[in-house]
Amino acid sequence: MPVDFYSDYTMTIGGKAESSSSTFEAYNPATEAAIARVPDASREQLDAAVAAAKAAFPAWSARPVEERQALVAKIGEVLQAHAGELSRLLTLEQGKAKAGADWEIGGSIAWCGGIATQSLPTQIIEQDEQRTVEMRHVPLGVVGAITPWNFPILLAIWKVAPALVAGNTMVLKPSPYTPLCTLKIGELLRDVLPAGVLNVVSGGDNLGAWMTGHKDIAKISFTGSTATGRKVMESAASNLKRITLELGGNDPAIVLPDVDPKQMAKELFWAAFQNSAQFCCAAKRLYIHDDIYDVLRDEMVEYAKTVKVGDGSQQGVQLGPIQNKMQFEKVKDLLADAKTNGLNAVLGGEVSDGTGYFVPVTIYDNPPEDSRVVKEEAFGPVLPLLRFTNIDDVVARANDTDMGLAASVWSADADLAKSIGERIEAGVIWINEIHTFSPHAAFGGHKQSGIGVENSLDGLAEYTNTQTVVTRRSPAVTIA
Ligand code: NAD
Repeated sequence: MPVDFYSDYTMTIGGKAESSSSTFEAYNPATEAAIARVPDASREQLDAAVAAAKAAFPAWSARPVEERQALVAKIGEVLQAHAGELSRLLTLEQGKAKAGADWEIGGSIAWCGGIATQSLPTQIIEQDEQRTVEMRHVPLGVVGAITPWNFPILLAIWKVAPALVAGNTMVLKPSPYTPLCTLKIGELLRDVLPAGVLNVVSGGDNLGAWMTGHKDIAKISFTGSTATGRKVMESAASNLKRITLELGGNDPAIVLPDVDPKQMAKELFWAAFQNSAQFCCAAKRLYIHDDIYDVLRDEMVEYAKTVKVGDGSQQGVQLGPIQNKMQFEKVKDLLADAKTNGLNAVLGGEVSDGTGYFVPVTIYDNPPEDSRVVKEEAFGPVLPLLRFTNIDDVVARANDTDMGLAASVWSADADLAKSIGERIEAGVIWINEIHTFSPHAAFGGHKQSGIGVENSLDGLAEYTNTQTVVTRRSPAVTIA
């Protein structure tokens, strides 16, 4: 069944297509044209999706884990079979260029395969002839998954695959800015998964809030902004839902003086600007040692001038637009603030009038540490370059933030770089590489970048409760 871009999109509830009396439009951020109508779920429809997931839970959780793993692997095969169409749809709704869309789909396929090899075996803590003490993991029930608009497919799969392998059923809600691929994947999986195991609903932010307050949802797995993460945590308290929160970042990258600045410019450019910097763990503050600062700055600017920004569906385009108008206005406000405060933009800094939410690659030359472009997560192609001379000083500056998602350190001396990296308060530390992820390595933020982790067996365990079972072979003699 080929993916039809312009069809009416339907939700998936209890294995069936579901439309809605109320709808909203999805837009192409490169052209600002409406591209599809999308159901705006009512509260009753959310209740129906949760009820379907709840009804599917006993049979799904009772299946042997091998069968659940096999069906998650099958999800990967379905994505593979539709990779080309999904990639084009992703560019259309999200704006990213083809290479980025292909990377996201490829990652999602790999994730299904990787997570499908995972399980959480029962541990025997004590065992003798009389008695065993075992610790096992049991699924939670219905998981609510809420995703953002920057990597709509990959970040959904990061939740769907482990939640299902662990034995849960799910109600998944994409961002209202990028609902199409997620709805389409729900549709493609209707005949693959048992009815009710994966329900996909679309709607506005209120739908997310209804989910976090829903009494029959046992856990919320949320990826999005720190501000919304706080609301999720508050609302989840109503029935003590489990939560995993993957939130914002303001990641430092520290470049030591022993690297070749000419060779590093391209890699550091992409570390910062991949996905038009709409990337939770993009390098967002680039600390460069004074010895190589000028050369690296100039090389990065020269390289940046060769990068083509435009409609992601066009040949040769490497960076697409900002995904939506709300974020576009936020980034423009940040640029206006930088201008008002006299920051030195060595590239970009001005948004031209025209169609599409395009922001040029913007690089600021050593702005004050307390300027907004340094303190705030831009979530757009805006990068401050910052000079340093002293390691203790740069570590303190790198840590002077409420965020703690990831960090990178770059040096010819990997041991030195690692010792510096380990002083950074963040969930992932990359040395001489960046943005390499694995289904078997934990990803999650420290401080206000999140709670809990995704991926790895630790991430899988977050979709379970721990249960200790103590068995005595015959009843213990009670001493009266
Ligand atoms: P957002 O917080 O505005 O929205 C995220 C999701 O939450 C959307 O589906 C939205 O509809 C929903 N939502 C909004 N209000 C809600 C509420 N009150 N209750 C429940 N759900 C609600 O975030 P965004 O703008 O879509 O995404 C950008 C942010 O996501 C950035 O800060 C970025 O750093 C972060 N992010 C983090 C990671 C990570 O893994 N740590 C990955 C990608 C993006």
